Amino acid sequence: MMHFSCDLCGKDLDPEAQTRYVVTIAVTQVFEPLCEDEAEDDRDYLQEIDQILERTDVHHDSSNEPHQEMRYDLCCDCRRRFLRNPLGRDSAKQLDFSQN
Ligand SMILES: [Zn+2]
Repeated sequence: MMHFSCDLCGKDLDPEAQTRYVVTIAVTQVFEPLCEDEAEDDRDYLQEIDQILERTDVHHDSSNEPHQEMRYDLCCDCRRRFLRNPLGRDSAKQLDFSQN
């Protein structure tokens, strides 16, 4: 049997006793050429893409990859907390709030 634990609070998740929630986060790099350059028809987009790819190749650090996917297992409580604040904004404020 596979063993799961919550990636936020570390609580064990027994698949037979508890609902497990999976959060998948996909981060995709979007390259949008500036609109001002539209008149410039002879622009060599292929060369630019090559340059971007070269630059990407230099760094093997995975944080520079144009597309990344992360997957987390969450328990019921952490799922609720995550949905309330997916990006972790205002975490200080939320801490005060949860203390009641
Ligand atoms: Zn949890």
